Amino acid sequence: MHSALVAEKLRKQHWKKAVITTHHKPDSDAMGSSLGLYHFLLQHIPEVQVITPTDYPDFLNWMPGNDHVLIYEGNEARANAIALEADVIFCLDFNTLSRINEFGETVRRSKAEKVLIDHHQDPEGFEDFSLWTTETSSTSELVYHFIQQQFGREAISRQSAPCLYSGILTDTGNFRHNNTRSSTHRVVADLIELGADITAIHDALYDNFREERLRLIGYTLHNKLEILDDCHTALITLNKEELKQFKVETGDTEGLVNYGLSIKGIVLAVLIIDRTKLVKMSFRSKGDFACNEFAQKHFSGGGHRNASGGQSTESLEATVARFKETIRLYREDLSRI
Ligand code: 5GP
Ligand code: MN
Repeated sequence: MHSALVAEKLRKQHWKKAVITTHHKPDSDAMGSSLGLYHFLLQHIPEVQVITPTDYPDFLNWMPGNDHVLIYEGNEARANAIALEADVIFCLDFNTLSRINEFGETVRRSKAEKVLIDHHQDPEGFEDFSLWTTETSSTSELVYHFIQQQFGREAISRQSAPCLYSGILTDTGNFRHNNTRSSTHRVVADLIELGADITAIHDALYDNFREERLRLIGYTLHNKLEILDDCHTALITLNKEELKQFKVETGDTEGLVNYGLSIKGIVLAVLIIDRTKLVKMSFRSKGDFACNEFAQKHFSGGGHRNASGGQSTESLEATVARFKETIRLYREDLSRI
């Protein structure tokens, strides 16, 4: 961990222009850690710009600082210029540059020093300074520890606290996944004291959807849920027509994969969606089945042991067929849990 080195540079005001970036289709931890860090960095760096590779769900727009976020897609020239002029780029909640799409090439080319803050396995190693561990629930929790340990808890502002809380909340599945530790609850307790309004945050994240999202969930669970009994697997697929029918927007399918896991005896839940350019896959598992290794080996993906994702350039039908074939190879692993 290079926390002390990074803190030293911040204290000496070594950096004048910073960029914070995070993975494409940012989730609550990606945005929460980025904006949580943003408010803090402004105390030590004159110019700080958050750049996301793509858009993100409307239910994350409430975070303080959201109005200052620049979305790379559609603003490529401006985003590239800012990243090339920056003297430091903070890379949050991802660890391979392919996770930030074409913006990754700019980040690679930029002479800026790179600081990685992340909790996923297998970092590619593009960074100069690493604040990395898989032992923390979320990148937001890592940002909390960095600020608290190096600068004291008072350095976490009323703007940062709700952002960091939100990232921890969602990456732990509302404190139910096994990445939730007693220390996680201590951090969260502190964030509440520092200004995170938990009812407002829960309302913003979970009671803020369009009607179509609920209709989509109902339709999907009724018509599209397939159980692969011998593999203890629940599978949902969504094709392009269905995405159109329910006017699916960024964020509408978030959480859909989890329903499969709530069925007794199911240890792997899978969601396969025919997105514009790629077929996107989400995996969630229980127990020892490492769905990140499965995603990495067969579907160019990765993530955490019990929550991972991947993709395929084949058609939806071909991807589903290949998934069904491949998962059979793991039948025994899936039965043992
Ligand atoms: P989700 O299913 O919510 O998109 O992603 C679940 C987890 O897997 C997240 O931690 C995410 O960072 C990771 N993940 C999702 N898709 C990919 C992918 O294509 N590659 C890698 N390396 N990780 C992914
Ligand atoms: Mn995360």
